[in-house]
Amino acid sequence: MTIRNVMPRIMLASSAVAAVLLMFGPADVARAQGKGKGGGGKQGGAPAATAATRPPNPAWANAEVHTLKVQGNVYMIVGPGGNTAVQIGDSGALVVDTQYEEVSGKIVAEIRKLTSKPIRYVINTSADMDHTDGNAKISRAGAPVIGGNLGAVAFDNGATIVAHENVLRAMSEGPEGKADTNADKLPTTTFFQGQKEIFFNEEPVIVMFEPAAHTNGDSMVFFRRSDVLATGDIFNMDSYPVINVDKGGSINGVIKALNVVLDITIPKHEQEGGTYVIPGHGRLTDEHDVLEYRDMVTIIRDRVQNLIKQGKTLAQVKEAKPTFEYDGRWSAATGPGSTDMFVEAVFRSLAPKK
Ligand SMILES: [Zn+2]
Repeated sequence: MTIRNVMPRIMLASSAVAAVLLMFGPADVARAQGKGKGGGGKQGGAPAATAATRPPNPAWANAEVHTLKVQGNVYMIVGPGGNTAVQIGDSGALVVDTQYEEVSGKIVAEIRKLTSKPIRYVINTSADMDHTDGNAKISRAGAPVIGGNLGAVAFDNGATIVAHENVLRAMSEGPEGKADTNADKLPTTTFFQGQKEIFFNEEPVIVMFEPAAHTNGDSMVFFRRSDVLATGDIFNMDSYPVINVDKGGSINGVIKALNVVLDITIPKHEQEGGTYVIPGHGRLTDEHDVLEYRDMVTIIRDRVQNLIKQGKTLAQVKEAKPTFEYDGRWSAATGPGSTDMFVEAVFRSLAPKK
């Protein structure tokens, strides 16, 4: 949900810049933003907007985080950036998605309540800022001295950050080719296709790439013994799917990924439970909820596809209200996940490219 969450920050940043400009002039501002000498910009002089150079967001800094035991070795930490999954055991902690840097301290404190062992792995389900901004602080927190020199040396570089190759690419390039991230936030281990398998805490942890869904770099993380699946933003319980077509997302990729979720999840006989699903955002859920969501999204896809076949324009498709009976439950108020942006993303995914 990058766009919705980033917009206020961009506005905040530009108004702050405007205010500073009045006082100092452009050269000073450039230096303050890291454009001047020692600014650490990438080739071409693009500044890296790190936490040091962007104003902190008070809404995120003041947000509360809560931990919920899911099942087996897996917990869920709910905060302003959505859901972070944590798997713990004798070997340490594995963290899926890191939310915003402003809440990194609180997330680490929650993990510390679960285990005193080091954080060994961070996995990102996409490049979106609400899933990666805390990477540096949370992976660095993975290095408590656990006694003896070996421990200190072994964890000196913090936790390994795992993601699909396209996440590294997107974070390195940043929006419009400008890196918006510092090097400490970038994935340190990437994979290209299929899945990455990690055996950790006596459990197979499977990082599954889902092509062209919410973006071009989505992964889901399946804890096979605990029987818990963290989906990232392929599946959200609080809005329509957020599909970033400009970053390689597509409605058919989302539906395909939701079908993979349904393949993996097995409900307990005639009751809630069985495989638990941690969505990117919103409450903990199970196969039943994913099934209804997949059906809803598929129905809307088919309606939009039909309208496109009839030669309707985007405006006409929106006028036909293909989401009508679902809007009350699923439309976000504004931004990605709202009816307007969801229908537009579906249309753009399906319309013949000119
Ligand atoms: Zn998100």
